[in-house]
Amino acid sequence: MINTILMGSFLYSGGLGRYGSYGSYGSGYLTYLIFLLPAMLLGFWAQMKVKGTFEKYSLIENSRGMTGAQAARMVLDQNGLSYVRIEHISGKLTDHYDPRGQVIRLSRSVYGSTSIGAVGVAAHEAGHAVQHAEGYAPIRIRNKIIPACNIGSRVGPLMIIIGCLMAGSMGRTLIFYGILLFSLVALFQLVTLPVEFDASNRALMAIKDSGIFDNEDYDGAKKVLSAAAMTYVAALVTTLSQMFYYATRYLGVGRRRD
Ligand SMILES: [Zn+2]
Repeated sequence: MINTILMGSFLYSGGLGRYGSYGSYGSGYLTYLIFLLPAMLLGFWAQMKVKGTFEKYSLIENSRGMTGAQAARMVLDQNGLSYVRIEHISGKLTDHYDPRGQVIRLSRSVYGSTSIGAVGVAAHEAGHAVQHAEGYAPIRIRNKIIPACNIGSRVGPLMIIIGCLMAGSMGRTLIFYGILLFSLVALFQLVTLPVEFDASNRALMAIKDSGIFDNEDYDGAKKVLSAAAMTYVAALVTTLSQMFYYATRYLGVGRRRD
C-alpha cells in the first residue's frame, strides 16, 4: 500500500482530548493538540509530499513508455509469479496487493499510465507480492499480530476514555491497560516499516536490474517511494505521541487521586 489507512483514524481521534480534560485542567484539549502537533505536522507534510511527488512524476513519461501494469507484470515475471493477476481499481493512490486473491490492483493514474510515478508505484506493489510468495518474515509477523492490533486500536482508546472519567485506582488501572492495548497499534506500525521499505527496495532493484530504464526513471521512482515511506513513519510517530500523551494523563490521574 502506498497510502496509510491507520493515519487518518489517529488524526481524527483528537476528540479523546476532550475527555482527557475532564476534571483536571480545562485546557486538556489544548494540551492534547500541543502533544500531537509535531506528529500532525509531520503527517500533513508527509501526505503533501507523497501527493506532490507522485503528481510531479505522473506527468513525466518513463524512457520505455511502459505502463504501470506492464511494469508490475515485469517485476512479477522476474520473480516467477506469473500466476499473480493485475487488475484495475478506482480511486487515487488506492494501489495495493491482495494476498488472498493473489491480485495486484492498480489505480487509474498507475495502471495504464506510462509515467515514472506509475512504474514506481506498480513495481512497489509487485514487491509486496514477492514478499508474500517468499514468506518474508515481517509480513508473517504482521499477519499474526493483526487480530490483536485491531482489538488494541478499538478497545485501548475506549478504556483510556472511561479510565479518565472514573475516579480512583480503578480509573488508573483502566488507563494503564488501555495504553498497553493501544501500544499494539504502534507495534503494528513498527512492523509495517520494514515491509514497506523492503517492497520499495525490491521495486527499485527490479527497475535497475531490468537494464531497460534510464537513471532518470530510477531516481524519480525512488523519490516517489521515499515520500510514500515517510507517511508510514509519520503514522508511527503520531501513535507514539498519543501514547506519550495518555501516559501523562495516567500519571496526572495518579497525582490527583493518590
Ligand atoms: Zn506498500
